[in-house]
Amino acid sequence: MTRTLKTLGEAARHGMLVRVTCRKCEKVGFFIASDLATVNGHGRTFKSLKFRCKECNVVDCEVMPFEDDRDRVHTNRVIWRPTRF
Ligand SMILES: [Zn+2]
Repeated sequence: MTRTLKTLGEAARHGMLVRVTCRKCEKVGFFIASDLATVNGHGRTFKSLKFRCKECNVVDCEVMPFEDDRDRVHTNRVIWRPTRF
């Protein structure tokens, strides 16, 4: 899949995950796109999403949808719970 996804609903339909990286401390969190779509709405764009870092409590995170690689064994993947703003 090469096209750019813009909304949570699109990513959720493809069973994708969302990686959120704090720009300050570089802590990385993972969300399931369908979880975010349920909380924030399927029409929400990734650019409009905001996440608060649990480490340094700033709302300055990079949001990046990506396809789950089911063939690889993941370690240290923490799925965060979505937060409503
Ligand atoms: Zn942080």
